[in-house]
Parts: sequence; structure tokens; C-alpha cells
Amino acid sequence: DIRHFVPTAGCLNDKVILVTGAGEGIGRVAALTYARYGATVLLLGRTASKLESVYDEIEQMGGRQPAMLPMNLEGASYAEMQQLEGLINKEVGQLDGILHNAGMLGSLTPLEMYDIDIFAQVMKVNFTATFMLTQALLPLLKDANQGSIVFTSSSVGTHPRAFWGAYALSKQAVEGMSDIFTQETQNTTRLRFNCINPGGTRTNMRAHAYPGENPMSLKTPEDIMSAYVCLMSNESIGVRGQVVELQPKD
Ligand code: NDP
Repeated sequence: DIRHFVPTAGCLNDKVILVTGAGEGIGRVAALTYARYGATVLLLGRTASKLESVYDEIEQMGGRQPAMLPMNLEGASYAEMQQLEGLINKEVGQLDGILHNAGMLGSLTPLEMYDIDIFAQVMKVNFTATFMLTQALLPLLKDANQGSIVFTSSSVGTHPRAFWGAYALSKQAVEGMSDIFTQETQNTTRLRFNCINPGGTRTNMRAHAYPGENPMSLKTPEDIMSAYVCLMSNESIGVRGQVVELQPKD
């Protein structure tokens, strides 16, 4: 069971994993956890200072030397992402996994009143940039022994919900993209695509979405790392096209 997988020491040894939104929240904890299990982690995020502090934490724990890749997914061009592919190829020589975790909430507003600029921004960060980055990095991922691409969805990505606007629609699109990539690579046994829905987790984004909620009632990013490690490790070879739900609290 992916949710209750017990990772073994070194289960990500020799893997190179890129984590988007690695500076804070779930992405930060996933990056630290992947490093703890032996991976070389490529830290992609918007705010360089946050990536630096994750970098330092990994060094302090004696993990493999990570790399920082500051990138604002909102404005990033496809050419920049292709350059990134070239850079990873040259400097690291390998890419085994991507955790597409970066995301933004946007507004919680009826579609009738949804601001068009915020709509475009949320779709770009949560969906279009995720697609662009995946496509740009596919040459490296296809060369990996067992490539794993993990997208981050949400309960509203599985079941649309009133007032969740662009966020819900972007996550619906992410789930659809994972499904289409899975179908299109069904003969490529070495590459797999899955989604994780972390469920309500104690982060800044959750606090913005549910301002009246007691954060202490929520699971922490640390609580849900089994599934994040499992999907990147060779334990999940053969798991394809799934939406792994970490909701409810368990
Ligand atoms: P946080 O808001 O805590 O962290 C989001 C991360 O994404 C930050 O590191 C942020 O970087 C990064 N990010 C945002 N915009 C951009 C951008 N334009 N370019 C690059 N990086 C960007 O969110 P969570 O940790 O809660 O969420 C992580 C993922 O999990 C998201 O995809 C979210 O939708 C999903 N999720 C979360 C749930 C929850 O309850 N927490 C529930 C369901 C899904 P920076 O800090 O530098 O801005």
C-alpha cells in the first residue's frame, strides 16, 4: 500500500529528483526527505533564499549535494526550460524523477466574477508550466532506468467544487494530463506518471484556503511522506496512471 509504505534507508540512492516549489510547505519537506533517503535533489522554486535554506539543511544532514534552480513558473518560457534540460544533462547527467509540487491557490470566487488575470496566472503555474517542464525534461527522463513523474492534484481536481475556480480547473487538467501521458507511454515500461492528492495538510496554502481552521487538526507534510517516497522509489515500478489520495487524515 503506497500510503503506508515504510521506506528503507538508501531506497533513493543513485536517483536524481527534481522538486518544484521546494522552498516551502510540502515541497520543502519532500526535498529534505528525498535527500535523507539518498537522492540528489534539484531544488526548483520561485524564491532563491528559501531554496538556499533547504540546500543548507540538506548539507547539514550529510545528504548528497543538491542543486538550486530558481525559476518563476509564472513567467518561465519553454526556451528556459529546455536550457534547464541542457544544464541538468551537462552538470548532473541524469534525471530519474520530477515531483511537480509548486502551486498557487488564486481566488476563491464564483467563476462569474473570477479575475481573468488571476485565472491565467493560476493556470500557468499549476498546469501549463507543469506541462511545459515535463515535456522539456522528457528526453532525460526517458533515459532514466525507471523514470517517475509525480503531479500534485487536490480533491477539487477529482471533483470540481463551487468557488474553487481556476485552482480546481488547473488540478482537473493536471489529472487529465497524467492520464493522457500514461496512455501515450503505455509501451514505455521505464516511465510512469501518477498524481498525489495530499489532502488537507498544515501549510500556508491550506491556511489561506481555510482561515477559520485549527492548523493543529491537520496532518503535517512529514506525516504524508511515505507515499511521496514510494512513488519515487523502485517499489512503485508498475504503478501508473493513479491518483493516490492521502485524504482523510490517517
Ligand atoms: P505552499 O503555498 O506552502 O507552497 C507552495 C510552493 O510552490 C512554494 O514553495 C512556492 O514558492 C511554490 N510556487 C508558487 N508559485 C510559484 C511559481 N510561480 N514559481 C515557482 N514556484 C512557485 O503550498 P503547499 O505546500 O500547501 O502545496 C503544495 C502542493 O500541494 C500544491 O500543488 C497544492 O496545490 C497541493 N495541495 C496542497 C494541499 C494542502 O492542504 N496543503 C491540499 C491539496 C493539494 P515560494 O514560496 O518561493 O513562492
